[in-house]
Amino acid sequence: MAIVVMKFGGTSVADVGRIRNVARHVKREVDAGNKVAVIVSAMAGATNQLIAWANEASPFHDKREYDAIVASGEQVTAGLTAIVLQSMGIKARSWQGWQVPIRTDGAHGSARIMDIPGEDLRRALDEGEVAIITGFQGVEPGSNRIATLGRGGSDTSAVAVAVALEADVCDIYTDVDGVYTTDPRIVSKARRLPRVSYEEMLEMASSGSKVLQTRSVELAMVHHVRTRVLSSFAKPEEMAPVKVGELEDIGTIVCGEDEIMESEVVSGIAYARDEAKITMLKVEDKPGIAARIFGPLSDASINVDMIVQNVAADGRHTDMTFTVQAAELPRALSVLEAAREDIGNFELKSSDGIAKVSVIGIGMRSHAGVAAQMFKALAEKGINILAISTSEIKISVLIDAAYAELAVRTLHSVYGLDAA
Ligand code: ASP
Ligand code: MG
Repeated sequence: MAIVVMKFGGTSVADVGRIRNVARHVKREVDAGNKVAVIVSAMAGATNQLIAWANEASPFHDKREYDAIVASGEQVTAGLTAIVLQSMGIKARSWQGWQVPIRTDGAHGSARIMDIPGEDLRRALDEGEVAIITGFQGVEPGSNRIATLGRGGSDTSAVAVAVALEADVCDIYTDVDGVYTTDPRIVSKARRLPRVSYEEMLEMASSGSKVLQTRSVELAMVHHVRTRVLSSFAKPEEMAPVKVGELEDIGTIVCGEDEIMESEVVSGIAYARDEAKITMLKVEDKPGIAARIFGPLSDASINVDMIVQNVAADGRHTDMTFTVQAAELPRALSVLEAAREDIGNFELKSSDGIAKVSVIGIGMRSHAGVAAQMFKALAEKGINILAISTSEIKISVLIDAAYAELAVRTLHSVYGLDAA
């Protein structure tokens, strides 16, 4: 028998009717003799509502109380799922983060999982009970307070539980039937990728694809967790239950590169709107200056993404451009102003309404000309590039957000990703 972790996202548990559907997926695995741990998100929209209430109470609230509030969404769906399973004659119980326990660090609102002692869970599974675990939340042992893992964190809960249980697979059930070459809402010719490597998935997630939380992919990559993205809306009884040692190719399998037979040079185009660009002009060019700029930003938990530093033309001053989330722009600017004394002289320029478009593929390692092709295609559409950054398997450009869709569509067909 296999140990199966099944994670269901917010739209899959949006009401009791859908939770009954989730229960049928679970039943299929139980009937096949598998041991099942289920991770649930909050009902679609529930977390947004909880966050809105916290902000309404006070925009400057205690992060620990924020966590106490927003963790409640998952508590509801875990209990409901257990009740529905019990009503179908299946042994099941709900587990909250602190009951497992899922131990986290103290970064409330975006905590990291430190460890999960799996004994109690494993004992429950051995006794034939399905464990329904709240996603998104854990407990910080030092203070004994609830901590949440950041938006989309249930994916990470699922992978972490899969690691703790040494599960055969971590199946992420969602409202799409897999990972696509790009967002199908923008490009109707987007194709489902039967397999994608951890590295590519990581780049896609951190470049704006919202299918999996970035941290969940990191964790899956480090521990080699076989992760599958599939649709919860597929007929539960028509799917084959998980078997030990073989993984059916449905949805998208996120796996090691060696398990992918043929890969295209480019496997996906990701985009993120809501970016903002900050340029610091005439910063003194001396050792330690970058640390003095980015240290305070990191202390303020502001996530900096692309960083471009120019060469110092006069040997003394340089320009530094970087991006942050548009929502963080005002805070980032005030952090920089506050650090002005330490950083020294600079002029500050910023703009929001920026999009980042990224071309991703492990094939890039062995193919030249991928970047040139991208720049030419964008130029032909009259799209101006504001900044460029690259990794071994990714090229990202910053452009005016108004051109984001055009850029994505153009690149999708330039790299031969359009479905026939
Ligand atoms: N409910 C949380 C959110 O909406 C966590 C998750 O669904 O993954 O972000
Ligand atoms: Mg999600």
